Amino acid sequence: MHKKLFIPGPVEVSEDVLLKMATPMIGHRSKDASTLQRGISDKLRIVFQTKEEILLSTTSGSGLMEGAIRCCTAKRAAVFSIGAFGKRWYEMALNNNVAADLFEVDFGKTTDPKLVDEVLSTGKYDLVTITHNETSTGIMNPLEDLAKVINKYPDIIWCVDTVSSMAGTDIPVDKLGIDICITSSQKALGLPPGLAVCSFSKKAVERAKQVPFRGYYLDLLHLYEFIQKKDYQYPSTPSLSHMFALDFALDKMLQEGMDNRYKRHIQMAEYVRNWAKKYFDIFGDENHLSNTVTTIKNTRGISVADLNKKLGERGFQISNGYGNLKEKTFRIAHMAECSLSDIKELIENINDILGL
Ligand SMILES: *Cc1c(COP(=O)(O)O)cnc(C)c1O
Repeated sequence: MHKKLFIPGPVEVSEDVLLKMATPMIGHRSKDASTLQRGISDKLRIVFQTKEEILLSTTSGSGLMEGAIRCCTAKRAAVFSIGAFGKRWYEMALNNNVAADLFEVDFGKTTDPKLVDEVLSTGKYDLVTITHNETSTGIMNPLEDLAKVINKYPDIIWCVDTVSSMAGTDIPVDKLGIDICITSSQKALGLPPGLAVCSFSKKAVERAKQVPFRGYYLDLLHLYEFIQKKDYQYPSTPSLSHMFALDFALDKMLQEGMDNRYKRHIQMAEYVRNWAKKYFDIFGDENHLSNTVTTIKNTRGISVADLNKKLGERGFQISNGYGNLKEKTFRIAHMAECSLSDIKELIENINDILGL
């Protein structure tokens, strides 16, 4: 039996989008390929609220994260982490011989703009990474407050991981001054995993030109220059199947209307939070909760693994806590095409299983 996914990626994909993955192939050097890829970039610019270029990558989101920190750090990267995915940037830097420092906070907290200001005022750094929505903790960083500080430093390339929030939460990329904003197909965009997208500012382009060794497949400058020259075709064969599906999913998204979509995500988040407060508790700083995933403190000491097994028998799947938070917390994702009635159905089943 198929289990409906309430995990923070991969998410449940609606059937019409899934079917688009089965579109017959076209040549990746054809006019049709150019039209498809250009159309996707135009629509993504609306979702990202940017006038900058959009890059597509046949990798998951981690691919573009790695490409960004490698291609756009000329001096030293300041990595601000509030959980498992924040720290990933640091590991990427180390493994690519990119000079970087890690600034971590306890799980459940946000990045303090004052700390960012202090760190950047040393003048040692020329790239900053921020996780917008930390999927391991369910905490959403205050981008507006961070933008005020980061934009004081004109040499900084600002990279933001919006893998689990873009298209589920309002993120005005240009207004915030983000240079590279990254997301993956399998989260709030509502597609199968395997494609990543990012915005790439002119400032990021200029920076990458100063970095001599940018790798090959994930050389974001190479991607950028190639799509300018070749009418949005990519240097190597991309996942055209994902692109057919993404193009269609973006049409549906824009038809729903981005504001309606954000409202729907907030409604689902509020429903899960209220339920969590009634029967359990919420993990982390309650002033900065994610709109796409809720982390619930397991105050009743239930077996999360057992609960998930029983939910599985009924055709649902939620997520255990991440890493050390396993069994101490569990996570319910409410993103992409998920509706409030899907969430209500899930919660009714959890209540029934736990006798709440
Ligand atoms: C899922 C996730 C990632 C990793 O993305 P992949 O597409 O699996 O590479 C990075 N950051 C956050 C916040 C995520 O939720």
